[in-house]
Order: sequence, then structure tokens, then C-alpha cells
Amino acid sequence: MLDLKTLPGPDDLWQMDRDHALHPWTNFGPFERDGALVMDRGEGCWLWDAGGRRYFDAVGGMWCTNIGLGRREIAETMAEQALKLGFSNSFVDTTNGPSARLAAKLASLAPGDLNRVHFTTGGSTAIDTAYRMVHFFQSCMGRPDKTQVIARDYSYHGSTYISQSIGKRPGDRVPQFRYKESGIHHISVPNFYRAPEGMDEAAFCDHLVAEFEAKLAEIGPDNVGGFFAEPIQASGGVIVPPEGYLPRIAAICRQHDILFIADEVVTAFGRIGHWFASLSEFGIQPDMITSAKGLTSGYIPLGALIFSDRIWQAMAADGERWFTSGFTYSGHPVACAVALKNIEIIESEGILENVMTVGAEFEARMKRLTDLPMVGDVRGRKFMICVENVADKSSRELLPEELDVGKRIANAAEAMGLMVRPLGHLNVMSPPLILTLDDVAFVGDTLETAIRKVADDLTREGVR
Ligand code: PMP
Repeated sequence: MLDLKTLPGPDDLWQMDRDHALHPWTNFGPFERDGALVMDRGEGCWLWDAGGRRYFDAVGGMWCTNIGLGRREIAETMAEQALKLGFSNSFVDTTNGPSARLAAKLASLAPGDLNRVHFTTGGSTAIDTAYRMVHFFQSCMGRPDKTQVIARDYSYHGSTYISQSIGKRPGDRVPQFRYKESGIHHISVPNFYRAPEGMDEAAFCDHLVAEFEAKLAEIGPDNVGGFFAEPIQASGGVIVPPEGYLPRIAAICRQHDILFIADEVVTAFGRIGHWFASLSEFGIQPDMITSAKGLTSGYIPLGALIFSDRIWQAMAADGERWFTSGFTYSGHPVACAVALKNIEIIESEGILENVMTVGAEFEARMKRLTDLPMVGDVRGRKFMICVENVADKSSRELLPEELDVGKRIANAAEAMGLMVRPLGHLNVMSPPLILTLDDVAFVGDTLETAIRKVADDLTREGVR
């Protein structure tokens, strides 16, 4: 039996993990060969591995360490709440102080009449609950046939059965898994960089809206209950939709009593400078917002489905119904206390303002990488950025997949102490929102050096 009193060294940890853990998104071959990098410590934007090496974390954990790591105030909040009330369930008619306060705080931050909150364990479970709430609401409205939903190609909404069926990143759709096909439809990704040849942005937008209308006509609008969209598609490659796309889709949804669910698991809590991006950045008023990640800056798992008074009123109308959905850890007092402290820090340190100024510099610095020969596109807003590497800038042709160019660039950057996330031929960044201008220069210069190095290597290898 493993003795928990003896502390293992870095190599033992590597071995234990290698022998017993199945990580999210495990690629079995490389994992069995190389195992995983064991992380040990974090402070601000920096991480240290178990061997003592230091990395600047431009990945922000996983789009989530918004206020940065190692915050004493958060640790103290956790300890105080754990001692006071470490758990209390929120089923039916019980609540706790942090959960009640956080629900009220989120209602005050969310746009329009989004005044109701259902806490979940993360983003996937918030999406699952939103999907169920579409059915519940439409049924309460006397429209029980409005059960089908529309989402987009290259979207990522989570990793439960339903949330992964709503998402559709091609690489995730492995043949060994089954996805729910019936009643979940997808339309094109609004990626202007990959728009049909010769279309300007306005024409591309018209084209996408026409596709949405055609899809609605095909399914029958009376059968469609909800539309799911990340305002900026995050893990699908940081896709910023063309100007006017989201408001036009939202207007069509309203016209047909289709609920608009904005998946703000990444875009909320300051990632692009707002509490929520839907209204502030894109001018849309969703019926529901899903949130997680930056809600606690990653310190503890928590998600929230924030929905409108209108939906609440319809569901509660006859006073008889039960919303039979929720989790043991919904409204967890420690998680909610952490979220409250996290929001307090974002407010008191002017972190949204930092995103507006330093984040804008970050965006501008990253966009200058398009001057490099191998960089076809740099897109995103503020601290949510993606670099698309290509073989040929004019044809936008990709490098062969097996070259794994994103991973090679990430490895080259890591050798210089910078972590960026590889996603196929892309490199994605979502650093903590506390970056300084010096940090921006470090990330920009290091990534530029890494891209130049890999481009030179590929030229030497004769592949570009
Ligand atoms: N929605 C979006 C937009 C996401 O990026 C993610 C996670 N990357 C999720 C949902 C799922 O969240 P979680 O992993 O907390 O379940």
C-alpha cells in the first residue's frame, strides 16, 4: 500500500502519474512513451515544474487563471470558508451565504434581465443544464416540439455527452466515441480567414446568416428551441465572427422563439475586458449565459448558468413544476466564496482596465506576428489570441499535419521559458489578465523567436 506520509520526488511523481492516470485528451502513444510534465508551483503568471524549471504561462492554465496564481487572499478565503461551513447542499430549499451572495452579484453583473443563476460544477455541466432548460422552458411555453438545437462547427462546449455533441471540433470526433446526432445541428464556423474565395467580410456575414436561415427552414423553426454560440469560439481556434453576425442571428432567434445561449465560459470575467462579452463587445442580449473558468480564476471548480427572469417566470408559472436537475456541489460554499473574492480582486485592482490597456497592447503585438513568413493569420481580442501557421501565406495552404507545427513552436517556446498552447497548426494564448507591458514584450519576442526558429528548421528539412 502506498504510504501517504512519505513525500515522493519528481521522478516518482512522474512514474505514478504515468502508471495510473488517464488525462483529459490523452494521446496514448506519446503518453506511454513520455508521460507528463509534473507542475509544482505557481505565482502570478509563472509556473515551476517539479524539477524547478520556470515557465511563463501564456496559456493561463486553460483560459482560466485570470487573476494569476498564488494569491494569499484566495487561500485565506478558502481556509476561512472551509472552517466555517465546508459544505452544505443546495437542494430544493437550502442555501448558504456565499452561494446567495454570488447569485446576487452575478445577476448584477450579467446583462439585461439575466437575474437568475443555477450553479454547476464547471462549463460542461452548465451547458448540459442549458440544453435541458431549453426543453423545460419551451415545454412550459406550450411549445413541446421545440426540442432541437443549432450550434456551430469548430465549437467547443465541454466534454459530457451532450456538451460534446453540441460542440463539433473535427479532431474531437474520434470514431470510438458516439455523439448524439438526433436533434443537434451544426452550421459553418464564422472564420473569415477561411471564407470562400473572393468574399469580403460583409458578404461572408450574409452568407452565414443565409445558411442559418436555410438550416432553420430545413428543420422547421417550430422544432428548434435553442442556439448555442461562444461569442468568440475559443478552443476551435479563437474565431471572432464577422461584424454584425451575432446580432443578426440573435434577431432571427428572437423572431422564432429560439433561446440564444451564449457560452461565455472563456469570454467572461475580463478575458476580453468585460464581465460578460455578449452585450458589451457584441451588442447581443442572450437568454442564457454559461460561465466557469474565470469565475474563480481556476482556483476551484465552479460553473454557473445565468438565465433570464422571463425563463424563470415561464418555468415557475403554475407553481407546480420541479426543475429536476442539479449537482451535489451546486452552490458549493467554498467555491462560491472563492468566486466572490475573485470578483472583488478584479474590481479592486482594476483588472478589466488592465485588459483594456495592456490587453490591447498584447493584441497589437501578437498581430504584428503576421509579418513572419509562416504566420497566415493572428486573430482574437485582448488576452484571447490565436496564431495560425501555414505553409503558404497567399494560398493559406496548411503544412502537413504530421509536422505538428503548433507543437514544434510550443516546444521551441518552452525551451525559452514560455508556455503557449498548441492546437494542431495553431498556437493559442490566454494569459492571466495581470500582464504588464514588460510581460507583453517577453511573450511577443519569445514567441517570434520560436516561430522563426521552427520556420528555419522546416526550411532546412526541405518541407517549406
Ligand atoms: N465551453 C467553453 C467555451 C469552453 O472553452 C469549455 C472548456 N474549455 C467548456 C465549455 C467546458 O468547461 P469545463 O471544462 O469546465 O467543463
